[in-house]
Amino acid sequence: MAVTREPVRPHAGLCDSCAWQRVVVSGRGSAFSLCRRAAADPRFPKYPALPVRACAGHEAEAAVPADDDPPGA
Ligand code: SF4
Repeated sequence: MAVTREPVRPHAGLCDSCAWQRVVVSGRGSAFSLCRRAAADPRFPKYPALPVRACAGHEAEAAVPADDDPPGA
């Protein structure tokens, strides 16, 4: 019998309230917190160490449209 599991969302600290976060789910069902700022700004790691407690790039979710990738992404 196949068991379907929802991916466990990572506890990413500040990233969880940031417009630049994208949760990526692998084919094996693991979930990762990706920082979309990393595509255009090397100060930000693509996959920051979690939980993020302080970040100069944090913006509230309403600040950046959800479907809008940063320039250069
Ligand atoms: S900008 Fe900072 S707080 Fe926002 S997703 Fe990237 S690492 Fe997380």
